[in-house]
Amino acid sequence: MTFNTLSIEKSVPGKRGIKFPSAQKPSKYLKASSMRQKTPNLPQLSEFDVIRHFTNLSRLNYSLDTHFYPLGSCTMKYNPRAYEVLAGLENFTSLHPFADVSCAQGTLEIMYNLERTLSELCGFEEFTLQPAAGAHGEWTGVLVAKAFHAANKDAARTEVIVPDTAHGTNPATANMGGLSVINIKSGPDGCVDLDELKKHLSPKTALVMLTVPNTAGLFEKDIKKIAEVVHAAGALLYMDGANFNALIGLAKPGDWGVDILHLNMHKTFSTPHGGGGPGAGAVGVTKNLAKFLPCPKVVKDGAGFKFAYDKNSIGRVKAFYGNAAVLVKAYCYVRQHDENTFKEISENAVLNANYIREKLKEIFPAYFDKTCMHECVLTIDKEKLRGVKTLDVAKRLLDYGFYAPTIYFPLIVPEAMMIEPTETESKDTLDKFIEAMKQIFMEALQTPALPADAPRCTPVKRIDEVSAAREPNLRW
Ligand SMILES: *Cc1c(COP(=O)(O)O)cnc(C)c1O
Repeated sequence: MTFNTLSIEKSVPGKRGIKFPSAQKPSKYLKASSMRQKTPNLPQLSEFDVIRHFTNLSRLNYSLDTHFYPLGSCTMKYNPRAYEVLAGLENFTSLHPFADVSCAQGTLEIMYNLERTLSELCGFEEFTLQPAAGAHGEWTGVLVAKAFHAANKDAARTEVIVPDTAHGTNPATANMGGLSVINIKSGPDGCVDLDELKKHLSPKTALVMLTVPNTAGLFEKDIKKIAEVVHAAGALLYMDGANFNALIGLAKPGDWGVDILHLNMHKTFSTPHGGGGPGAGAVGVTKNLAKFLPCPKVVKDGAGFKFAYDKNSIGRVKAFYGNAAVLVKAYCYVRQHDENTFKEISENAVLNANYIREKLKEIFPAYFDKTCMHECVLTIDKEKLRGVKTLDVAKRLLDYGFYAPTIYFPLIVPEAMMIEPTETESKDTLDKFIEAMKQIFMEALQTPALPADAPRCTPVKRIDEVSAAREPNLRW
């Protein structure tokens, strides 16, 4: 089947879709000079040809709806369709952003309740729902930290300490927030090295940003001690909680001494994502930081809800009140679950990642040989595998009908494969994936050309990814 033939190449002169009758008399409204004189050079195809063409194109996509998608750190899990239906109710979608609060009470109540539930789940005083993405939440947190230090007449704090196991967005957003970034090396166990951290803490430290679980898929076992030393140095502790499906219902970061936390609604809290669609990066803070959060905030006012402003606030970070539809879906999610089922979610996310790690350890060992959280970071022995690299394994997985894991990240792990199965995959799917990985390992030993030339079964074979990203050719 020639999937990738563009419609222009399929054009046959004279073929067409709908034929409209020609006008009976000249239009009163259109001047002759505005009318097209020549027929445009468009592909000539029947409607049926066009439908087949685009349907076939759409089926070339790997997606969560069609394939297991273990892309580490992205939490590509199943999100109930019912939430889409609810978020699509006309009451939400037709609400005008400038509608008076008296006409928006239902939506405001949802925002208020969601904010309260997230605060409860994470052990914080307040949350803002405004930021549109995880990185946007981080940036909001950085501004809150700066506002806090400025209010304490401590504006000389201009540095952020970020360990090498942080998500890439952490140093980037700290930088965009106007602070300078100090990178520190992790210990041999893949966690923050307390002595290394202490060495870099100073009266200039504004913030320490930790990704928990970190990008090695590990829990920061010393988190409480880290919070102590950070506070003793007069700095604040930020936690990137984008992958909170490893912790939800199990632990409250507020209890550990974390001051600022962001969550990705479009990972843990049930909004499908990828391709740059709308998201939400809610940010929670402790009591002493609450007044700096973005405004307006939704507050309860007698029996109703209204917007409130605070002169200490860092201001608005997003038009209106953030991505409301994403927040409605998050609300559906938190309403569907309770303490026990949240706990089950994180236990299953952790169990699934450890199941894969255990089952593959003889052939693709985990870089840090210990229990992981929601994802495991495996590596390969290139010598044993006759030169077959992580990239080859990832490409070969496509031939077996699986999306590839995140590869070559985190940077501290050579030949890294970061596999995040998520809590919603069945054991049956995990077993099929493990089987495919075993097959690829055997191929690497016996017929290394097979993985080295993969993918073979996709419509486009191995591409030069750098040129594809830098010089995309999206037209004929
Ligand atoms: C996805 C992710 C982010 C960034 O979230 P965006 O919504 O893509 O900006 C930050 N940190 C971690 C740990 C993540 O997994």
